[in-house]
Amino acid sequence: MTPPSRFKRRDFLVGGALAGAALGGSIRGGEARAGVDDPSTDRKPLPFRECYCPAHFGNSYEAMWPRERAAHLAELKAMGFNRLGDWLVTTDARDPYTTDKAWHLGRVQLERKKQAFRDARALGLDLNLIVTPNHVYLDQLRPELEATKSSKIFGQLLCPSRPEARKIILNNFVHWCDDLADAGLRLSAFTAFAYDYGGCDCEACRPWVLTFARLMKEIHALAKERHPDIEPWFCSWWWTPEEHALVNDWAAREAPGWLQGMTMHIEYGQTHPKEVEVPEGCRKLAFVHIGYPDERSPEVYGRQGAVIAPNRLPKTLDELRARGFEGFQAYSEGVFDDANKAILAGLADGRFGSADEAMRAYAERYLGAKAESSKAWAAWLTRWGDAKSVPLPAAQTEFDRLAADAKPGWRLEHWRVKLEMERLDRAIGRPKPDEWTPEQLANADAWFATQEHLYRDIYRLGPVRHVLHPSFQPPSWRDSWIQATQAAPAPASPPDPSEA
Ligand SMILES: [Zn+2]
Repeated sequence: MTPPSRFKRRDFLVGGALAGAALGGSIRGGEARAGVDDPSTDRKPLPFRECYCPAHFGNSYEAMWPRERAAHLAELKAMGFNRLGDWLVTTDARDPYTTDKAWHLGRVQLERKKQAFRDARALGLDLNLIVTPNHVYLDQLRPELEATKSSKIFGQLLCPSRPEARKIILNNFVHWCDDLADAGLRLSAFTAFAYDYGGCDCEACRPWVLTFARLMKEIHALAKERHPDIEPWFCSWWWTPEEHALVNDWAAREAPGWLQGMTMHIEYGQTHPKEVEVPEGCRKLAFVHIGYPDERSPEVYGRQGAVIAPNRLPKTLDELRARGFEGFQAYSEGVFDDANKAILAGLADGRFGSADEAMRAYAERYLGAKAESSKAWAAWLTRWGDAKSVPLPAAQTEFDRLAADAKPGWRLEHWRVKLEMERLDRAIGRPKPDEWTPEQLANADAWFATQEHLYRDIYRLGPVRHVLHPSFQPPSWRDSWIQATQAAPAPASPPDPSEA
């Protein structure tokens, strides 16, 4: 048997299109060009269009092999992103710079991240290093150095007000900055998160955001030695308006003109960040969660396959432009949000004026659609902004018609699964623990089997953790199902492992 060539594998990964070609070329040259040749000011590209793809928790970015990741990065660029962010996550890992084995989790994750950064750089993408400064490796935790925890302060945390702990924290940054520089990489920025994971609630560290800001200023001075152009950015994930005010006062007093970017969290259900001031000279950017549809639902993080937010994301971009934001970090936990990436990046770089246009180009590039079917695909895809309003079985009939001529691949399959999981979810309904019928129990079993097929066969994932874990934000009938099935008699014999 002839081994598949790299090009064939590349075709499989991205669906047959050429790497790096602009998504939507056919729209530019085709009939649907109204408005594209004469962009209005609201189509002006936003300068910072980052896809933040933390490779962690068993998600797609952690699971992808190097060539697969490189092919995917080329698609991010084709969609309109110009910057890649990844988090140097220390969760569950030992210090890769002191471990005696090259195949430990910490080392393997770090090597993959470095390779992804190299591939992104080769494509011309800028690099942003996401950091949570006082979250350290497992073997660096010592009881006398540990941080004081509270409701939003958790994880493998050291207290940076203790000199020994601060030394460990700074040393991690020296290792990372040297290692990345030695790999030929130059970072454009770091974006530091104060929380999730981060923080210390001890007397000496309060107020935490100021300890955090001072720590990051010290780290920035170290980082500049090997990455002279690195800009200090903060992400205000979980910050209160009072914490913003504290940092603004600190910046004016102790660090005027130092902070270059503030990435502001947009909460669920909102299309712009809270109205808060940023320090003088600091860019405003938005942290845009693309892992859920128009409204928050159990679909978040791809529980039921693909997600799309055809109303929320264009509205978000309009509001960001109107408020003087210079760009965004699109927060992505896997490839299930592929349609959202194409909408957000394609509208932000000005090539598309609507989600519908973006989805027509998407269908042509990835699903092999021709002009007529791309229109039908865009209409079908954008209905899923609100899954509960999608008419069934009509949407199934339309999908089957369109899919018959579509290019095969995971992008087609995760929508097929979405339909099936939605159909099963509706058939299950919301029974109380004592109301489950045999049909509903069979449908719940089919729902779990379909989800497993999604994670394993389509997204090709292994053990997923944290927010990717299926028990995080489960379907609303799950608790009832657990109660109903726990009460049921145990099977007479264990299942046959050969059927697994
Ligand atoms: Zn402390």
